[in-house]
Amino acid sequence: MSTLAPRNVAVLGATGSIGASALDVIARHPDRYRASVLAAGCNVEALLTLCIAHRPDHAVIADDTLYARLRDGLSDAGLATQPHAGMEALDTLVAAPDCDVVVAAIVGAAGLSSTLAAARAGKRLLLANKESLVLAGELVTEAADAAGAEIIPIDSEHNAIFQCLRSRQAQAEVKRIVLTASGGPFRGRSRADLAQVTREQAVAHPKWSMGPKISVDSATLMNKGLELIEAHHLFGVGRERLDVLVHPQSLVHSLVEFVDGSTLAQLGLPDMRTSLAVGLGWPARIDSGVGGLDLLKHPRLEFEAPDTEAFPCLRLAWDAMAAGGTAPAVLNAANEVAVSAFLQGRIGFLSIPALVEDALAALPAAPADSLEVLLAADAQARQLTERNLAGHLSP
Ligand code: NDP
Repeated sequence: MSTLAPRNVAVLGATGSIGASALDVIARHPDRYRASVLAAGCNVEALLTLCIAHRPDHAVIADDTLYARLRDGLSDAGLATQPHAGMEALDTLVAAPDCDVVVAAIVGAAGLSSTLAAARAGKRLLLANKESLVLAGELVTEAADAAGAEIIPIDSEHNAIFQCLRSRQAQAEVKRIVLTASGGPFRGRSRADLAQVTREQAVAHPKWSMGPKISVDSATLMNKGLELIEAHHLFGVGRERLDVLVHPQSLVHSLVEFVDGSTLAQLGLPDMRTSLAVGLGWPARIDSGVGGLDLLKHPRLEFEAPDTEAFPCLRLAWDAMAAGGTAPAVLNAANEVAVSAFLQGRIGFLSIPALVEDALAALPAAPADSLEVLLAADAQARQLTERNLAGHLSP
């Protein structure tokens, strides 16, 4: 048992899939960690349930119309937890001196501000919110470097690469980084087959249990595209040293090839608690609740090239990364609007890449040297894509 006080962990996106996994790992180590801040978007009842279970110092609901319900619910439960509303409260709480670790697990570009605040405050940042790196990767990594923040990627692929890269001394020793992709629920289907797929089919991921947005991103392969851009920022490698391999078993989480011919991979069962335990404990290894991998039970490990004809989102992300500047922000924003419309049943599956492609064509990449420029590109792409939805609405 440690004699030190437990480290205070802010869990942003606590009511989501990553939030649940993070709270599960934290609860396994009450002597080492405690959830000191819990934050959600609008699901105030789920947030209250989590507050009763974890007794944080602060609870934040982003939707400020729900503040009174949060305050009254905490008071009715007899909790000393302080209620807050609005995204600005998050930026303040993650930067406070008594916050040690931040789990950034808000979905979408809405997570950027708190991710940046944690990076600027020099925190250990367990970064699941890949969209913040796609939108403003240089700003986030520069802020982290300047303030001495430790970014530990939570995406299983990047967490695997983070672990494999510990065996190198210099960047030039890395020949290639290969991100693995499950291929999603529609692997092997032709483009024509994808025209009629439903929301329910798209969110039913064969290997991972995840929130709805990332599940659709996995089905379109946009998730892998966003991850390529994320890897570029996290590991400082260009497009020419990044690759994608489809690996349907989702046991090899990614690979790093070195100049001496060695390839290292990290393997494990598909459960995000492993990445979160790495993020919390690193460089120590702590129990995550995830069982070991028995390869005799999983003797087949298969790999194939991604089909960018049927899944053009991966190609669009490669192109946006190559174009640089505001292009990844436009890609991400158009995708968020399109996925949200698909999840609401307003557009078909194939409209997602079409809308992203239209946004990239209409808003050519411009230099992006400030957050204002990136946020303006994000807003422009959202408006444009909202307007373009009209041409794609399902009958
Ligand atoms: P979920 O949809 O399950 O959860 C999203 C969380 O974000 C919820 O707590 C939600 O609150 C909160 N949220 C949404 N909008 C806002 C907002 N405006 N302000 C504050 N909080 C908000 O998503 P996931 O957990 O699946 O994914 C979270 C992030 O992690 C994404 O960026 C995803 O790409 C990444 N990721 C997820 C993986 C997974 O296995 N799930 C794997 C790798 C990365 P509420 O419930 O109130 O709406």
